[in-house]
Amino acid sequence: MDNLPVMIPYFDHEEAEEVAKVIASGWVAQGSKVAAFEQMVAAYEHVAHGVAATSCTTALHLALLALGVGEGHDCIVPSFTFTATPNSVLYTGATPIFADVTADTYNIDPDEIERIIREQYDDNLINKQTGNKLKTIIAVNLFGLCADLPRINAIAETYGLSILQDSACAFGAKIDGRPEADFGNMACLSFHPRKSITTGEGGMVLTNDADRAAYMKTLRSHGATVSEIDRHKQAGYLMPDFNELGYNYRMTDIQAAVGIAQMRKMDFITNTRRQKAALYDRLIGEMGIDFLTPPHVPKGYFHTYQSYVCVLDMERLGCRDIEEAAHLRNELMSKLDARGIATRVGTHATHMLGHYRDRCGFAPEDFKVSYMLDGLSVTLPLYVQLTEQDQVRVLQALLDVKTELLGG
Ligand SMILES: *Cc1c(COP(=O)(O)O)cnc(C)c1O
Repeated sequence: MDNLPVMIPYFDHEEAEEVAKVIASGWVAQGSKVAAFEQMVAAYEHVAHGVAATSCTTALHLALLALGVGEGHDCIVPSFTFTATPNSVLYTGATPIFADVTADTYNIDPDEIERIIREQYDDNLINKQTGNKLKTIIAVNLFGLCADLPRINAIAETYGLSILQDSACAFGAKIDGRPEADFGNMACLSFHPRKSITTGEGGMVLTNDADRAAYMKTLRSHGATVSEIDRHKQAGYLMPDFNELGYNYRMTDIQAAVGIAQMRKMDFITNTRRQKAALYDRLIGEMGIDFLTPPHVPKGYFHTYQSYVCVLDMERLGCRDIEEAAHLRNELMSKLDARGIATRVGTHATHMLGHYRDRCGFAPEDFKVSYMLDGLSVTLPLYVQLTEQDQVRVLQALLDVKTELLGG
């Protein structure tokens, strides 16, 4: 039997054709293809501007700089997320302040945001311990499900904070029909192969703010105030000005060509993933897999299932604590792996990763829900090419290895 990976990108002949055109044109660096890709993605999300970058991580860095985040500032981030989220805050010289997530959505808990603001900051949003000023909330829309953006927007408005969405996993996600990028000030997407569509590596900031979009385009290109393409369109020679410390975070036209072909399949990819997630939901019930809690979708939320992340039920598995359940989870995963079925943990309790644990002296219980999800979450294979038989095979194997480990 074939091995089942957690994810494979979905390509057809169009990606190679688009790339061939770019190569034949002789212009392979950032140019008209990147501009076209930016417009396609922005239009899809009903947002005015897209600023492509080399990854979601660099997109987050650009977005934070454009929001004026830097040294002496704090940003609230969820503790259960990929390490790139808090890392991007550190790149600017600001400090990430972790907030726990909710157990059902895995996303940042608005009550925790409010509690942290009340307890750790004075009336001028100055951190009582460090003297830093609170600037921004980063809402991560994890695994394809939006965080509680309406409530987070309301909190940000009350306190005059900006909102940046780490939407690496949530391209196409919606709440009550409204695209995620339309909430908050900016949203950053990823086009890594683990995400809904891919350009190999790549990312994009989406925003309705024309000035900030222009500023980010400068920053991503060494701080140059004349873009490469304008320089080449111009007759004669036009030297750019470099008035800012910039970066080279430019996506290439080769990558954008792949992205343009992927965008044409975006609805198909999302709808197919949603159908397969619904089938997992149904099969988990029908096959009586009562020790596995499927992903929860709040009413009105459109989940794009970048990952299908379940949580093991500790009590039903007879585990006394999270450590024991996490150990069992790891054993289940390696036994599935031996049967050719790849699974992954959901994502990390970032506060327990060496870099942050050592820096901040965190203990696991400091963010209880994140710690639980780090130990108990498991991502099942999900991709367009996955068949119904594959999905049954995944769940049957899960039942079998559980019986092998714990008895019937
Ligand atoms: C994948 C991911 C990122 C990083 O995206 P890259 O494009 O690989 O830089 C950031 N945040 C979250 C939540 C992610 O899942």
